[in-house]
Amino acid sequence: MKTRRKFLKDCGLIAGGAGFSYVSLGYPEWIGINKKPGKSSGMTLRFKPYELHLKHVFTLASGSRTTTPVMLTEIEFENMVGYGEASMPPYLGESHDSANAFLTGVDLTQFASPFLMEEILTYVDQIAPGNYAAKASVDIALHDLVGKLMKQPWYRIWGLNPKRTPNTSFTIGIDKPEVVKEKVREAAPYRILKVKLGQGNDKEMIQSVRSVTNTLICVDVNQGWTDRNMALEMTHWLKEQGVVFVEQPMPKAAIDDIAWLTQNSPLPIIADEAIQTIADFKKVQGVYSGINIKLMKCGGMRAAYTMISMARALDMKVMIGCMTETSCAVTAAAQLSPLVDWADLDGNLLIDNDVFEGITIRDGKIILPDGPGIGIRKI
Ligand code: MG
Repeated sequence: MKTRRKFLKDCGLIAGGAGFSYVSLGYPEWIGINKKPGKSSGMTLRFKPYELHLKHVFTLASGSRTTTPVMLTEIEFENMVGYGEASMPPYLGESHDSANAFLTGVDLTQFASPFLMEEILTYVDQIAPGNYAAKASVDIALHDLVGKLMKQPWYRIWGLNPKRTPNTSFTIGIDKPEVVKEKVREAAPYRILKVKLGQGNDKEMIQSVRSVTNTLICVDVNQGWTDRNMALEMTHWLKEQGVVFVEQPMPKAAIDDIAWLTQNSPLPIIADEAIQTIADFKKVQGVYSGINIKLMKCGGMRAAYTMISMARALDMKVMIGCMTETSCAVTAAAQLSPLVDWADLDGNLLIDNDVFEGITIRDGKIILPDGPGIGIRKI
């Protein structure tokens, strides 16, 4: 009997050893699993690899890239389809191959109904450690499906006021002054800009932004500073420049230095790389002022909701962020945004080949779609 991988390889769906081939997926595009003879749940999980093209080269302290691999998922039940997505920037360690391997092992036919979300998502979480983006792709599709079956958007199921969505920041990557100024001009409708720092030209970056606009700025150093005294000096300078918080200023392992910085900094210090999921709260409590939650880091909407509750119980600030993603995962995260202090949900705006429409931004503010589930539509 052929293994599933061998079957897919024979069909040209997996390029031997080199991951998926994006251009020659052929027919069928969807890799259907989970529909097993003799099982009656009626839930079918499908997934297919896709590659997002970034409008601009994306430069962080860790390097540059122009594409992001994603896996698009669907869960179908009684002719209703929920959409999900795994976005897998390379530094997080997931890939088309790892997501394929994980999702191939997900058997939803053992559950009588998609409404058993707690049991289903606990099962998915326990299949294997890690794989949080792949897990998020099932979590989001299941939330979308269940919301559609209930005919309600998730913000309403959670009892949230859609008018309380925050402004979203728009990301300005590290670049030469003239490129930065041009990007800032393009970002004119946004009320807060997220400026990437950490590659040695921090003051030049901020001065380039300030030469074009007076709008609020937050900064993301992506672990790029190594000296705590220099980091503290920078937080004072940044406050004078109208910066409202600093994300992941130093390496996540520099716990004592970050705790000291948080105690002395005039600006809130937000954990991003230092906190992935619920289990990491012990590492950030008392060390940071707040956390940046992303569905791809924590495993989806259910984990993100829990993390927001935990952060509030610990009197911490909450930001909700994203990777470069389609409007699917970005809109799923936006359903939670009435609960947070800051949102960085611009991932869909950074790509030029989105396949969904969902949230929109009006005068910098997140506008939630009022459709059921996560509220997206295929383009
Ligand atoms: Mg960050």
